[in-house]
Amino acid sequence: MYKSKAYAAASQTAPLTISAIPRREPTERDVRIEILFCGICHSDLHAVRDEWNEFMPTVYPIVPGHEIVGRVTDVGSAVTKHKPGDLVGVGCLVDADLTCNECKADYEQFCPNRILTYNAPDEHLGGVTYGGYSESVVVDEHFVLRVPSNLDLAGVAPLLCAGITTYSPIRHWGVTKGKKAGVVGLGGLGHMGVKIAHALGAHVTVFTTSPDKKEDALRLGADEVIVSRNTAEMEKHAGTFDFILDTVSAQHDIGSYLALLARDGNITLVGAPPQPLNVAAFSLIGGRHSLSGSAIGGIRETQEMLDFCGEHNLTADVEVIPIQKINEAYDRLAKSDVKYRFSIDMASLRDE
Ligand code: NAP
Ligand code: ZN
Repeated sequence: MYKSKAYAAASQTAPLTISAIPRREPTERDVRIEILFCGICHSDLHAVRDEWNEFMPTVYPIVPGHEIVGRVTDVGSAVTKHKPGDLVGVGCLVDADLTCNECKADYEQFCPNRILTYNAPDEHLGGVTYGGYSESVVVDEHFVLRVPSNLDLAGVAPLLCAGITTYSPIRHWGVTKGKKAGVVGLGGLGHMGVKIAHALGAHVTVFTTSPDKKEDALRLGADEVIVSRNTAEMEKHAGTFDFILDTVSAQHDIGSYLALLARDGNITLVGAPPQPLNVAAFSLIGGRHSLSGSAIGGIRETQEMLDFCGEHNLTADVEVIPIQKINEAYDRLAKSDVKYRFSIDMASLRDE
């Protein structure tokens, strides 16, 4: 066991402040990573403020962060995938049983014994796992991803959650050339959804509550932008969408999007508002619409997404911050005021 500097929140209302957390010495299967950048996901904010208490209560102190890129510093004797010096990533998963049907099908995210990167039972040290707002992390090699060498690392970090969370359902639902796809909410997830759906050749429409994001949406790859509070504009598109990806983090009217689906159209929820959404049966029945959800992606698919982003030169649009600005960043994230992901330069923590 050794100590690593980290930023932790001591309670639901406490700011994140510097502290020291325990990390295990690498076992034979482990990779130790010096963290270079860590993205700030809205899930970090939900977790720090214990907004998901009903589903996964937060254990304090919490060290969030599941959009990690870094450099391998050492590896256990049985590690074959990575070596010291490699640039690697870690997302939301750090362990799973690797023997159940979900794991065998490359869906580690649905393994009943999966371990999330933070706020999950730590089977090595006891207590809970601690995430990427820290100097280093030790992870089983299976959950460590290769990072394409041509991409900017600050912008790669968000791919480990925002990238895979949007890539996975976009691929699953066959979004491609000739399909009309919508993305609701232009935040961290939403802007990656736009880039990925555009790279796959789909016609992409952004639905936003922020009229000032319109030009950015077009630059990011959208073909059109609809300000969702404009009912007349929404109604013009009734019955036309094959697929809509809903990334909204708060309560909103899902019915107004179900009305936009074509026959057999699907809305996938990746946004995780704490409160239930209101769905009218008739909004699904008419048109054989479906409403589904999706959670990150498995390790094989996460590597596929990173390789896809490498080939297409895709990274997140990031605002790089020192970790000392983290609480300010959280306040801005809560107000949808980020273009389009905060990425923490972890050198700022090493210097503290
Ligand atoms: P984010 O950067 O804050 O983006 C969310 C966007 O939703 C905002 O930028 C805003 O876009 C829109 N929005 C926010 N409040 C709204 C409201 N009251 N009504 C309508 N639109 C609103 O968050 P994120 O990091 O992309 O995460 C989004 C959600 O996905 C969070 O709930 C997060 O926990 C969840 N998540 C799920 C998974 C998964 O595996 N399923 C993975 C990661 C994150 P506009 O300004 O364009 O309206
Ligand atoms: Zn996330």
